[in-house]
Amino acid sequence: MNTIDWGALPFGYQKTDYNVRCFYRDGKWGELEVTSSEYIPMHMAASCLHYGQEAFEGMKAFRGQDGKIRLFRWQENAKRLKRSAEGVMMAEVPEELFGEAIKKVIQLNKRFVPPYGTGASLYLRPLLIGSGAQVGVKPASEYMFMVFVTPVGPYFKQGFKPVDFQIVRDYDRAAPLGTGHIKVGGNYAASLRASERAHKEGFGNVLFLDAKEKHYIDEAGPANFFGIIGNRYITPDSHTILPSITNMSLRTIAKDLGMEVELRHIHVDELGTFEEAGACGTAAVISPIGKIVDRDTGKAFIYSKDGKPGPWSTKLYEKLQAIQYGDVEDTYGWLEIIE
Ligand SMILES: *Cc1c(COP(=O)(O)O)cnc(C)c1O
Repeated sequence: MNTIDWGALPFGYQKTDYNVRCFYRDGKWGELEVTSSEYIPMHMAASCLHYGQEAFEGMKAFRGQDGKIRLFRWQENAKRLKRSAEGVMMAEVPEELFGEAIKKVIQLNKRFVPPYGTGASLYLRPLLIGSGAQVGVKPASEYMFMVFVTPVGPYFKQGFKPVDFQIVRDYDRAAPLGTGHIKVGGNYAASLRASERAHKEGFGNVLFLDAKEKHYIDEAGPANFFGIIGNRYITPDSHTILPSITNMSLRTIAKDLGMEVELRHIHVDELGTFEEAGACGTAAVISPIGKIVDRDTGKAFIYSKDGKPGPWSTKLYEKLQAIQYGDVEDTYGWLEIIE
């Protein structure tokens, strides 16, 4: 048996005992299968390989102080995967199948759910791919849905500390009427050149602008953006942004903490008015933003002078994490305990 150094876990892949799979053939989903193989048998003409018929999800299971395993808002991930499937014309995974798959894979890999207090969690990666052979450009007739898990440490080893972002205009992540609103791999492929360059230039990631007018804030790398002025939590409303479940949850918490929530276009010029800014998503919950530098003009918007996250970002982060780990009562009904 391998022993895991929970405190030193990276945010990366590590082999676990099992994963689960299900195949869609002849117009229907089969039975859920359990395997310990890390490989998938695939036809070389599978539509996911050639035409990008694929979508994924990312979610986490948390172990609480009581030793119980909690899943966070998984129905939202199931719904989003349905929308992604619809968006690239794949067979939809019914919510019951999605639920059965994620619960089974967690139960089978219980020993990989990190202990409470390590800052680590079990990351779940549901994946849906067009597996049917296809040479002409059209949707496949066979699909494969699978879920694997891997224990992960905190997304940033340095912890809840501000990271810097770079505004870019020479790359777009998603087209105005394209696939930015669904969780498909192509969006990520399109973002790689910009984000790798940003890393080389000393930034955590890039802030994409809307592809059409280049005026409005779009995604913050692989996460949603938010800005805070006074007690207002402001986050972009755009067709090209992936509706983050973390962001949706933060908006609810923000309201309950007495903040006003605005979901609307955010002009780049508004960046100068924010007192705090952050990126949010399952991986890091919130990455506070230290500064945003416009790559074209060199102009810098500074949110953290002392290397510390702002007060609202800290409160939001702590509240959401406390709910996820079961430290405070889940008054929203967001958690499901996996027995
Ligand atoms: C997955 C994802 C997010 C974050 O969504 P969560 O549901 O909060 O994990 C944000 N932006 C993009 C582009 C994503 O793919």
